Amino acid sequence: MLKIFNTLGRELQVFKPIEEGKVRFYQCGPTVYWTQHIGNMRAVVMGDLIRRSLMYMGYEVKYVRNYTDFGHLTSDGDEGEDKMEKGAKREGVSPKQIADKYISEFEIDVNNLNVLTPTVTARATDYLQPMIEMVKVLLNKGIAYSTPKAIYFDVTKFPEYTALSGQKLEMNKLGEGHGDVSDDNKKNPADFALWFFKTGVHKNALQYWESPFESTEVEHGFGFPGWHIECSAMAKANLGDTLDIHMGGVEHIPVHHTNEIAQSESANDTDYVHYWVHNEHLDVDGTKMSKSLGNVWNLSTLTEKGYNPLALRYFFLQSQYRSKQNFTFEGLDASVKAYERLQNFVNNWAKGSEQTPSPDFKIDESLKAKFVEALEDDFNIPLALSVVWEVTKADLPSATKLATVLDFDRVLGLNLDKPINNPETLEIPLEVQILIDERAIARLNKDFKKSDELRDRLKAEFGLVVKDTAEGQILSPLL
Ligand SMILES: [Zn+2]
Repeated sequence: MLKIFNTLGRELQVFKPIEEGKVRFYQCGPTVYWTQHIGNMRAVVMGDLIRRSLMYMGYEVKYVRNYTDFGHLTSDGDEGEDKMEKGAKREGVSPKQIADKYISEFEIDVNNLNVLTPTVTARATDYLQPMIEMVKVLLNKGIAYSTPKAIYFDVTKFPEYTALSGQKLEMNKLGEGHGDVSDDNKKNPADFALWFFKTGVHKNALQYWESPFESTEVEHGFGFPGWHIECSAMAKANLGDTLDIHMGGVEHIPVHHTNEIAQSESANDTDYVHYWVHNEHLDVDGTKMSKSLGNVWNLSTLTEKGYNPLALRYFFLQSQYRSKQNFTFEGLDASVKAYERLQNFVNNWAKGSEQTPSPDFKIDESLKAKFVEALEDDFNIPLALSVVWEVTKADLPSATKLATVLDFDRVLGLNLDKPINNPETLEIPLEVQILIDERAIARLNKDFKKSDELRDRLKAEFGLVVKDTAEGQILSPLL
């Protein structure tokens, strides 16, 4: 029985999906104006581990992650400059070029960390119409109102506004990014913007669109949606009115997610999210990462120093998503060693199982039960990882250990089935790798029917021919 810590209610709750066997999962993605640091990477890996755990438990997971490529101001509320435009000015290019550049960079990093590709990747600029629609609905219901500068959500029309944060509404007034004092026509200090007209501080906005909304200060309703409505609209467009799981960093609780709930529930007249999941942050050397301290690390700077991205992934596995984790180079070095040890175990078991003609190729069910129990305890990955080390010490045939650990690796994502020091194998796309992994396990279990099915899928879907050799499966393109 899977239990998830729900921020809404702040307790462990038994997971019950809306639809039997299926999970609708949304994770807030990056604002793509800058290189994402390893703290951002940790958040993505935590989402990946939860998604993989659910898949391992047999759920069909529709996982959506977005790219914010406009409308996120330098404060999470309604103040400051658009981060994308700031990036564009900094680099002397257009906001779209900035977004394209940092999206590619992000995708290279998450691929290197062996994060599965989302079912849907939603880029905010592709969802203007659904955002405008939602603002329209809120205006028609009288929950939103317009001033010449913006359209605001009236928080007094949504009594549950502080349910997620547990904060008093007054605390939201000035402190948490709602302190837009430039608009005298705003009704309540905590009201947040759904649409900014291209006027006032946003007069020179580079990214703006026509809208059906009216302002005495601009023609054609020119402007841009607020950051919060982006996620509400992208989630609805891809997953429907109600989601099973919505994930994001703890910093999103008081403003971004609070506002998402208010908008979505008011517009859709139904629950928005059943389980709110929030990940804690990564510190560096015991303090917050900051440019002034010079301790902001990117994945590329670590790989330039010679670190394997999967050793960083191993490092992330040692802390549960709800705990803060402290990054140090000593810690990373220890993870490099542990990861190499694990790879060596796997390589040795693989060699051992070739020499023994008919050992038991089955997964060890009691260790698997322990592994699943850890996952069901609010995705306790560090505990699950300790079960992997238990396998190494267990009195079992090599082939059983191999089958068991490769099965666990479907969640951990450490690519343990790949031989060490073989950079060529890193070129295989993840979707293909998943099929190859499944096939390796099927063969270990002597499930040749499944193994043949997977071979046929690799051929039909990816044009790849698989050959089984003493070294494992070798892929070649279909000629
Ligand atoms: Zn979001």
